[in-house]
Amino acid sequence: MGEMHSFQAEVSQVLRLVVGSLYSNPEIFLRELISNASDALDKLRFEAIADPKLLEGDPELVIRVAADEAAGTLTLSDNGIGMSQEELAKNLGTIAHSGSKAFVEQLQRAQEAAKQGDAVQLIGQFGVGFYSAFLVADRVDVVSRRAGEAGAARWSSDAKEGYTLEPAERAGRGTDVVLHLKEDARDYLKRWRIEELVRRYSDYVAHPIELLEPPAPKDQAGEAADERAEGEPTYRRLNQGSALWQRSPKEVTDEQYTDFYKHLTHDFEAPLARRHFHVEGTQMFAGLLFIPKRPPIDLFDPEVKRGIRLHVRRVFVMNDAEELLPRWLRFVRGVLDSEDLPLNVSREILQDSKAVRLMRRQVVSQTLSMLEELASERPEDYASFFRGFGAVLKEGLHFEPDQEKRLAELVRYESSESEDKLTSLKDYVARMKEGQTSIYYVTGAERRLVERSPHLEALTQRGYEVLYMTDPVDPFVVETLRAYADKPLVNAMSESLKLDEGGEESAQEARDVAHQGLIERFQSVLSERVSQVRTSTRLKGSPVCLVIPEGGLAPHLERLMRAQQLGVPAQKRVLELNSEHPLIQRLDELNREPERAEDVTEWIGVLYDQALLAEGSPLDDPARLAQRLTELMTRAAG
Ligand code: ADP
Repeated sequence: MGEMHSFQAEVSQVLRLVVGSLYSNPEIFLRELISNASDALDKLRFEAIADPKLLEGDPELVIRVAADEAAGTLTLSDNGIGMSQEELAKNLGTIAHSGSKAFVEQLQRAQEAAKQGDAVQLIGQFGVGFYSAFLVADRVDVVSRRAGEAGAARWSSDAKEGYTLEPAERAGRGTDVVLHLKEDARDYLKRWRIEELVRRYSDYVAHPIELLEPPAPKDQAGEAADERAEGEPTYRRLNQGSALWQRSPKEVTDEQYTDFYKHLTHDFEAPLARRHFHVEGTQMFAGLLFIPKRPPIDLFDPEVKRGIRLHVRRVFVMNDAEELLPRWLRFVRGVLDSEDLPLNVSREILQDSKAVRLMRRQVVSQTLSMLEELASERPEDYASFFRGFGAVLKEGLHFEPDQEKRLAELVRYESSESEDKLTSLKDYVARMKEGQTSIYYVTGAERRLVERSPHLEALTQRGYEVLYMTDPVDPFVVETLRAYADKPLVNAMSESLKLDEGGEESAQEARDVAHQGLIERFQSVLSERVSQVRTSTRLKGSPVCLVIPEGGLAPHLERLMRAQQLGVPAQKRVLELNSEHPLIQRLDELNREPERAEDVTEWIGVLYDQALLAEGSPLDDPARLAQRLTELMTRAAG
């Protein structure tokens, strides 16, 4: 017995939750373990490019499965990169995944709410990997020897408290995972069952997956028995192993694509869309790209690397090649297989290669084509894609203005037109009213806050549709996307909003002159807080609102940036008065009576706070407003 170690707290939780959520789907363990073995072979092959000695004596990379009926064990072996004793402890005793705590909490909630589907889905995003072994085994031993090292180590656990670690023997490099199957999982010892599962889930694994054949009966002296030495085990290959992406799309079934996607991503659900392409020309390569159904939990974690899996002439080179995929497409999963890159391509080469830039451009273009096709052929699915990933896709408008034209067709927004549907800019323009010359939008933290904002009153009264831009990235998006189909995008909250009336400016001037006394009064009372006061054309039911000066920030963004201490100074906005509102008219009258001066000052303070409240902004001094309102109500009631 080796030394006992306890699991990191999250591991115990994940183990329990995995077993609790996936008990009805235990067979995935085989796919997960084969995938780990295949990764280990890929890593070895890659390291061996720089250090060919690693392959010495055992050059054929292979995954082997052996069932031992008598012992009740199923063993998966690979002669890949292997793990040292420290690596065993780190890889199988801790969870390196960022956000694992948050994940465990979400998972626990889903399980407590008995939402089995959600729990399975979450686990799919996280990738259970090795721990799925405990779906079928009550004890798992891992004997591993790191390539290039002499000693091996054994890790062993029953998934309860922790695991033991001790030095061990292994003839060569690689890893054996020995599953001591539970009573009710002994079905996985049957050779036909193993064969079926490997065919179903792992057929395209590029390395051979072999099954140990039972020894030939002694009395049967056939030719085959003569050829091999006494007692030498024989293996039969189970998988075809041809790289799926190299086949012609016509020869690949939907099911095969889905299985491959699951193998690649460990997702439990089928992908939402895929694109399979072959590029000829100065750079020859094949690619297979997928869009998952749902966003992963760490989509917005800047630490997490995302990229495409790169192969060179079928040989795996690296996972998550970021150079091949811009950040704003980080939701795309897939593989590229180049005919031209050198096999020992390094990250440095990738960063500085014209060939790679060409490939990246193709990936962008192919992904956009995939999305365009999805949008036109399956609009509902596209909407679901956009709700999950749209905020990321829109970053492209900011970072890759070259693609503005295509991206402008792909963006979707909620709008005043519908409770819950998304609209394209094209459809918005098609619905524009007679005389409407601009596309109107409003930015804010949530739809609930912006849709009742006073700024929209005149627009909605005219039946003009307003787009709700509620992603933090939207203000940057509209900076690039200033117009669509020659219609400017106009912020309903900005100072420069002009409703399309002829002679509007002179009308505004006339109104400002008429209310000059009141405007000056507002200005002097609020001089610390607003840059200007003027009459408004955008208000109907509300007396006042605050608008953003030319080049200014939306208030929710200003708050966000200040909270992150980005050093943005507090900006003064423009206060607009609704000169047709009875309250403003009355205030104008009172303002001419010197004895009411104090009241007017007080009410201006209340109106300013009200403008903040109506747009969903916090007040500087909420207690002060409450006090003022109480006084006003007391007086009114008296
Ligand atoms: P994941 O594969 O998602 O990283 P796992 O829990 O399946 O998570 O495995 C954890 C780590 O253990 C792997 O990242 C890998 O480094 C290591 N590992 C697992 N199986 C093997 C194996 N057969 N050979 C070498 N390393 C392995």
